[in-house]
Amino acid sequence: MSCPEASGTLAGSGDSGSGNPAASELIRLTAAELSAQLVAGEVSAVDVTQAHLDRINTVDGTVHAFLHIAHERALTAAADIDRRRAAGEKLHPLAGVPLAIKDVLTTRGMPTTAGSRILEGWIPPYDATSVRRTLDAGMIPLGKTNMDEFAMGSSTEHSAYGPTRNPWDLDRIPGGSGGGSAAAVAAFEVPLALGSDTGGSIRQPAHVTGTVGIKPTYGAVSRYGAIALASSLDQIGPVSRTVLDAALLHDVIAGHDPHDSTSLPDAWPSMVEAVRRADVAGLRIGIVRQLDSSSVQSGVSTRFHEALVLLEKNGAQIVEVDAPHFEHAIAAYYLILPAEASSNLAKFDSVRFGLRVTPPGGGTVEQVMAATREAGFGSEVKRRIILGTYALSSGYYDAYYGSAQKVRTLVQRDFTAAFEKVDVLATPTAPTTAFKLGEKLDDPMSMYLNDVATIPANLAGVPGISVPAGLAPEDGLPVGIQFLAPAREDARLYGVGAALERALHAQWGGPLLAQAPDLTRMIPLEGGHR
Ligand code: GLN
Repeated sequence: MSCPEASGTLAGSGDSGSGNPAASELIRLTAAELSAQLVAGEVSAVDVTQAHLDRINTVDGTVHAFLHIAHERALTAAADIDRRRAAGEKLHPLAGVPLAIKDVLTTRGMPTTAGSRILEGWIPPYDATSVRRTLDAGMIPLGKTNMDEFAMGSSTEHSAYGPTRNPWDLDRIPGGSGGGSAAAVAAFEVPLALGSDTGGSIRQPAHVTGTVGIKPTYGAVSRYGAIALASSLDQIGPVSRTVLDAALLHDVIAGHDPHDSTSLPDAWPSMVEAVRRADVAGLRIGIVRQLDSSSVQSGVSTRFHEALVLLEKNGAQIVEVDAPHFEHAIAAYYLILPAEASSNLAKFDSVRFGLRVTPPGGGTVEQVMAATREAGFGSEVKRRIILGTYALSSGYYDAYYGSAQKVRTLVQRDFTAAFEKVDVLATPTAPTTAFKLGEKLDDPMSMYLNDVATIPANLAGVPGISVPAGLAPEDGLPVGIQFLAPAREDARLYGVGAALERALHAQWGGPLLAQAPDLTRMIPLEGGHR
């Protein structure tokens, strides 16, 4: 048993805050379980939606996972699904299942800020393709989730709208940049969420909140309508409480989109099928020697190695592999990302979107732009714009951006060489469990170092999954294990993730989140901090 004593599981721990015992059961169900009940007509989409909105109402004053909650719209959409289902229409199995959307994705008629003041009040005229596909499947968006401004960060503390708290310990970070999506799923506010991952923003929040997060192969999910951070690294993916749930959402959002020129034309296999077939017998799993180091927190390392032993018992073969250039990945990333971001963020110029600040007494167009960007961007965004502009400037371009691109190629070659020996790679998802709010805010370098294990996948475009591996003995906080596969082999990750999850659940007697401190007791029903 790798988890400390559970203080009463969430299941059966009582009221969700709605006063309706059935509602407190509904929020604990996975998307797959909700789908089964909805399809069987045992529960209505309105009841499911209302139960989750009540939960948000109860806990989100404390967790602050959401920037915008779409109460009425969600209930109207749910009523529509119930009506269509009652009329015998053949709906997608996820029709009526609630969803949270990271605020980096455009949502027609719903505010979209990317965590920035510069987009405050902007209501996009179109849906991101990933969002549109969930709507077409009949999923119910409950709102937009908090994030580091323009997805720059690992703690959600760089949001212009205040930080999100980790439901496991309210004094700790929920990871970033997608801390809102991960916390919403971990706090049972929603069973599924959409995230974006440029250097780890889906996987690292999953690691610190005991949830599942996947960065698909670059180009597998459309980036159309995803507010670009670094276009060659960005990818959209699912956040969930189980591997099966992630697969359900993955199958909805993946696939070619003519609106995204980097979208792959591939016909993807079903990830749900990969979960159902999950088996690691004969699978070769490579431990990346360079990421299995003494700088990893001891409890993170313990759970990582225990998970590997368990996989070995289930028939996998564990081998050590070298990826000698991974240690330079962070340095390359923090040149390539700011370079691309400085270009992508040039469009926030006070003319077309959101905020406009006019200097006292008026001003030229340039002065209005400068005043708007000065007031509208936070300090981390400014730091990266300045760094990226410098790295791209003539005279420095080859030395910085050019060198970083060469390192990127070397990292890609490390992956190619490793995948000649093994089927997947395994690493701890991040070197530590959730750190304290404020702990790394004044030390950008130490914040950046949290991404050491997640960044290589973005540089190479390969897919990665983070699956809960247990709780660190020293602090009782969640630990994730990351698996990486060759490009286009996302299904392989679902297979190994589901096989490990099955083996761990058998050990734990249920999911990791069922062992979370009782959230309904930890977070008073009225909201407010412990
Ligand atoms: N933490 C990383 C960064 O600050 C990753 C961000 C992301 O994946 N969006 O850039």
